[in-house]
Amino acid sequence: MNQLKFKGKWALVTGSTRGIGKEIALELARQGCSVIINDSGRSKDDAESMMKEIQQLKAEGVYLTADVSNFQSCMALAEQIRQKCGKLDIVINNAGITKDRTLKKMTEQEWNEVIHVNLDSMFNVTHNILDLIPDNGRIINISSVVAFSGNFGQSNYAATKAGIIGFTKSLAKELGKRKITVNAVAPGFIRTPMTDNVPVEMLDGILNLIPLKELGMPEDVAHAAAFLASPEAKYITGAVLRIDGGLGF
Ligand code: NAD
Repeated sequence: MNQLKFKGKWALVTGSTRGIGKEIALELARQGCSVIINDSGRSKDDAESMMKEIQQLKAEGVYLTADVSNFQSCMALAEQIRQKCGKLDIVINNAGITKDRTLKKMTEQEWNEVIHVNLDSMFNVTHNILDLIPDNGRIINISSVVAFSGNFGQSNYAATKAGIIGFTKSLAKELGKRKITVNAVAPGFIRTPMTDNVPVEMLDGILNLIPLKELGMPEDVAHAAAFLASPEAKYITGAVLRIDGGLGF
């Protein structure tokens, strides 16, 4: 494999100081990409250790804080990217949160926070950086298998992840003439801080439903995202790639 497939390219990975986003940014950096690392600025330690890892790979990295749920913050992010990088070849809309509760007990705030971070972010980030994406650019949005199946206690989260798929397919139609591809990735259960809190009994139940009998790793999602970002994926757009060990197919 060409190790420096993404040389000369800039990628923004939102929510990339830990978990899946971090692994996607590291994989792109390993393949020669310059990466913009982002989070909302709440965890300095995560950001510092991520930037050290980028340096160890001898890749170019810039850390820019922005709250993806906030339009003004994303406008400022786009302006910083314009000044520092001049263009943005690859956008990975990854940042996401959960606030799980059955609908009956869910507060308006829990509903709104998840919608703002997971779904409004698609508009906030992508609308503001669109002019920086050259022809043949790549947009990859991180959805989830719960977009298809739903999940107990996740009506807010599943609604955003299904919304991301509609957003992805619509934008793929709008940007096709510029050869910009727009795809979604739908991970199943991946071992990250987000899933660390799932109770052991529930995890056993989940493993029973997964034909491959194990949780996925952030690298599994990162390899798929890097493929969709690559020149080899130029004829794939509007697609949703499940990375779920066969869960519920
Ligand atoms: P994580 O909680 O480990 O990491 C989330 C990242 O997003 C962190 O860096 C956090 O700082 C950042 N973030 C949160 N709110 C933000 C905001 N308002 N602005 C900017 N950054 C913000 O989560 P993860 O498990 O790595 O999940 C990453 C993505 O993958 C999410 O969209 C999630 O919904 C999706 N996903 C995860 C799984 C899983 O099993 N872990 C499964 C399916 C989909």
